[in-house]
Amino acid sequence: MVNLSTISAELQPTNKLYLTDSYLKTIDTTLLRYVPETKKSGYLVTADTIMHPKGGAQPSDIGTIESPSFKATIKKVLEHSGVIIHYGEVTDGVPREGDRVSITIEWEGRYKVMRLHTAGHIVDYAALQVLGRDLFSSKAFHGPPESFVEYIGRAERVDITSLQKISNDIVKASRRVYPIWVSREDLMKTVKGAPNIARLPDLETYRVVVIDGVNAIPCGGTHVANTIEVGEILIRGVRDVENGFRVIYDVG
Ligand SMILES: [Zn+2]
Repeated sequence: MVNLSTISAELQPTNKLYLTDSYLKTIDTTLLRYVPETKKSGYLVTADTIMHPKGGAQPSDIGTIESPSFKATIKKVLEHSGVIIHYGEVTDGVPREGDRVSITIEWEGRYKVMRLHTAGHIVDYAALQVLGRDLFSSKAFHGPPESFVEYIGRAERVDITSLQKISNDIVKASRRVYPIWVSREDLMKTVKGAPNIARLPDLETYRVVVIDGVNAIPCGGTHVANTIEVGEILIRGVRDVENGFRVIYDVG
């Protein structure tokens, strides 16, 4: 693999449109850099993107980047120093820096991830209600093959029926879901009780995803705009893992 710092060298951070609008399925932008790996594959950096990279508890988006002179099937999206790097197979020509290109997301999979990610924030709230406020979150993943929120400590007995009911009551209440940006000083006031505070990087501003009347969690992920879009939350079970336990869930 080509070194990511070589690919992103001297480029400005990518304009990440998914942070303000998770529903963008296709956009036109400019190709800033193309670094071939082989004749048929390589790395593409664009001025703007709608593709979420692997990370932040989400899988990478997939899709296409194309212009009249080439087509790239994007298999993996990575981030380095704020620059989004799309990796894929290149067919029908060769990308040229400066080309106007169209980026299109494989929408079905991405929309499922949006539903799963919002569901994860809801399950986290429900878990705090059912298990008590002293839960300490260690990690989470919102995507296939298995979505979970993970906590430090032992699970004891978890009332899965209550967990599922509290979660689905929030879904059915049609709560608005939206991002806000807050300063470091305001972060602690905004996200009281958020599960991931301890593992946040040092930043000037933080993106916080608010579910109206439920919780506000620092998060760079893609979410649905209203909890009703989640559909139904299914709590699959609680499993002990090293140093903690996982609440495993899915959306129906
Ligand atoms: Zn999140």
